[in-house]
Amino acid sequence: MTNQCQHGQLARVCVTCEQAAEIAQLREYLDAAQRRASALGEEAINLRAQRDAARADWMALRGQVAGLRKDAERYRWLRDGDEVSDYPYPVMRQGGKYDFDRTIWFEELDAAIDAARGAT
Ligand SMILES: [Zn+2]
Repeated sequence: MTNQCQHGQLARVCVTCEQAAEIAQLREYLDAAQRRASALGEEAINLRAQRDAARADWMALRGQVAGLRKDAERYRWLRDGDEVSDYPYPVMRQGGKYDFDRTIWFEELDAAIDAARGAT
């Protein structure tokens, strides 16, 4: 190893070599930064795709929930209705085909439906 640079001066004090070394170092930093920027660009594209997919799932689920909510509201309205003349009382036939139909509502209706469906 020599203490002289390629320009025949002491490497320690050669401004040209110091600048060349600094430029080489800065080029390496720049290359690394460009590679990192490129990788982050790819990552951003992937994340955007994931976000779009999640948003589509969410929209579909929101539509599903709206439909289920409508059904639940209809059922609760029927189950919990007031005893007024225009209220269509839910009627269930319990036991067997020879039993009389009977009007049933509130929690009794939940239980009768669950029992009839064999739900726990
Ligand atoms: Zn030099």
